[in-house]
Amino acid sequence: MTALPTDHKTYNVLPGPKMGLITPDYLEEIAAAARRHAIPFLKITGAQRLAIAGHSPETAAEIWRELGQPTGPQKPVGIHYIQACPGLAWCKYGRQDSLTLGRKIEESFMTLPLPAKTKVGISGCQFNCCESYLRDIGIFGTTKGWSLVFGGNGGGAPRIGDMIGEKLNDEEVLKLLNRCLAFYKEKARKMERSGRLMRRTPLVELQNYLQTAE
Ligand code: SF4
Repeated sequence: MTALPTDHKTYNVLPGPKMGLITPDYLEEIAAAARRHAIPFLKITGAQRLAIAGHSPETAAEIWRELGQPTGPQKPVGIHYIQACPGLAWCKYGRQDSLTLGRKIEESFMTLPLPAKTKVGISGCQFNCCESYLRDIGIFGTTKGWSLVFGGNGGGAPRIGDMIGEKLNDEEVLKLLNRCLAFYKEKARKMERSGRLMRRTPLVELQNYLQTAE
């Protein structure tokens, strides 16, 4: 077996795959680029993307260019990734269309500056394959609509997110999410994750804000 690259300083996410979706054509382009640059392995990340490791920064920049991106990712601190399961489209348990909602959230919020890295997990049913209760923004489907959870974290300080809304349609999710993110922007300290904010903030404060905010 080819040795795994061990240079942790050269780990790069590749452009393209969002919510784990990738076309066969693009997969072939990525494989060809990896072969050209003698990249022995691709890594599927926890964020449902592809990454390469063990290469020079110049090689990474070249691969990005070859895949149609001039440079590496450049965006303000904000939504770090949106994870979504196959949902209603492809999973027999799916109750709501997680991939479509993921695209809508991406269009509306992906470039929004926020106090810290913000992860989104969208699960098409209550089995919660995208661990929605452990994401800053967690959403899961039921037969009656979407449930929205805020302030979860699965890292070194794990926290189950707070239930913010239930039986929501796509547009209601976007509206409520907009308000949650406005609260987060207003109340969080710089680089403070939503889970940490909600540890020191009574839930009722967020609930009152959601009722009164524009
Ligand atoms: S969360 Fe539900 S719909 Fe999504 S992949 Fe898991 S079982 Fe299927």
